[in-house]
Amino acid sequence: MPSRVKVKNRIVEMNGDEMARVMWDMIREKLITPFVEVELRSFDLGINRRNETDDRVTAEAAEAIKEDFVGVKCATITPTAEQVKELGLKRRFKSPNATIRGALDGAIFRRPIIIPSIPPGIRSWENEITIARHGSGDIYEAVEFAVPGPGALKLVYTPLGGAPIETPIANLNGPGVAMAMCNLDASIRAFANVCISQAIASRVDLWFAAKHTISRVYHERFKTIFAEEVKRRSNELEAAGIEYIYRLIDDAVAQLVKHPGGMLVALMNYDGDVWSDLLAAGFGSLGLMTSVLVSPGGQFEYEAAHGTVSRHYERHLAGEATSTNSVASIFAWTGALRKRGELDGTSEVIKFAERLERAVVDTIEAGTMTADLSLLRGRTKESAATTEGFIDAVSRRLAG
Ligand code: NAP
Ligand code: MG
Repeated sequence: MPSRVKVKNRIVEMNGDEMARVMWDMIREKLITPFVEVELRSFDLGINRRNETDDRVTAEAAEAIKEDFVGVKCATITPTAEQVKELGLKRRFKSPNATIRGALDGAIFRRPIIIPSIPPGIRSWENEITIARHGSGDIYEAVEFAVPGPGALKLVYTPLGGAPIETPIANLNGPGVAMAMCNLDASIRAFANVCISQAIASRVDLWFAAKHTISRVYHERFKTIFAEEVKRRSNELEAAGIEYIYRLIDDAVAQLVKHPGGMLVALMNYDGDVWSDLLAAGFGSLGLMTSVLVSPGGQFEYEAAHGTVSRHYERHLAGEATSTNSVASIFAWTGALRKRGELDGTSEVIKFAERLERAVVDTIEAGTMTADLSLLRGRTKESAATTEGFIDAVSRRLAG
């Protein structure tokens, strides 16, 4: 075997849960460490360790990414009320992704991995479409209230050292629900800027979509800030030949489905959450969707867009063979290695990331793939590779 590629600086590695964790360990042991000499600063974000540390381990991992700039994360469970009981957890821990996003801010980019022989479900999508999702605020940090009965609902804001300002919301004539959410101009501006930079770096048009006609203050603020930042950086955008298009979100949905692709679509937090699953399904499989959190501080955290694939894990625990797609997790590693290579100026690390990605695509093109992709190719589930079989095939191709 040729000597291992040396990575100059550390990568923060975060392990996770269930089937995603099973794949994670295989990828590290079969595709990364045999080929790459890299110092990993490892954090176990698996639910047991989070429980033992009262979730301090997640906050520590986020701090480590701030210091080291590049992180790679395995999917983790966000425990449900039932899981809190089942697993005997101290409390219902917050989603680790939400904690990390809260610490780093910025945007999450969801990008499909295009495999030539796997046709996208939405036929018009010939080129990559990337979704950029705002990483903080809105319903993810909202306060909700169960309204017990008739009464007046108000929003109260008390400026620092000033008198409270009250805004009436509604006079309710019965029980119901209420919610208050917010966002910060600085966070929206940082989001707009990472999107503009990313569009310039990948030379694709930038869309932003929201519902400013209905949400005339909240969504309108996003629209205004995007327009201001696009104007401020118009020279850069022009030089790169990039167009900025604001669309009303319902119009954008209609356009997207018949569009040939090749653009970056920026969306508010919730819209981005929903659209990225639509994108994953439309391109083929959740196993082919990558995700990277880009923070305004220059940090990058890579992961697969899918979760811990619980149903497959149940089968794995029952001793049955599984056929879970590891491609998005492998690309999380290649994303982190490529970024490390870019930041460190080590072209051989970038080349290794490219070589591993090519080995994955070539393995699938040569006919070895997991069940989700077999079905898309019109083959039977039975002819599919096992979880480990696929990773072994990639490893052989990489070594050969
Ligand atoms: P999921 O793990 O993404 O799985 C949903 C379904 O999608 C699977 O049952 C499977 O369908 C298919 N799928 C997803 N990834 C696949 C892969 N790599 N290969 C093949 N099929 C794949 O979502 P979930 O079941 O809703 O969530 C499970 C846990 O993950 C939850 O605790 C959730 O909180 C967590 N989660 C974590 C993250 C993260 O850490 N980034 C993200 C999302 C969810 P079939 O069963 O039909 O084969
Ligand atoms: Mg989601």
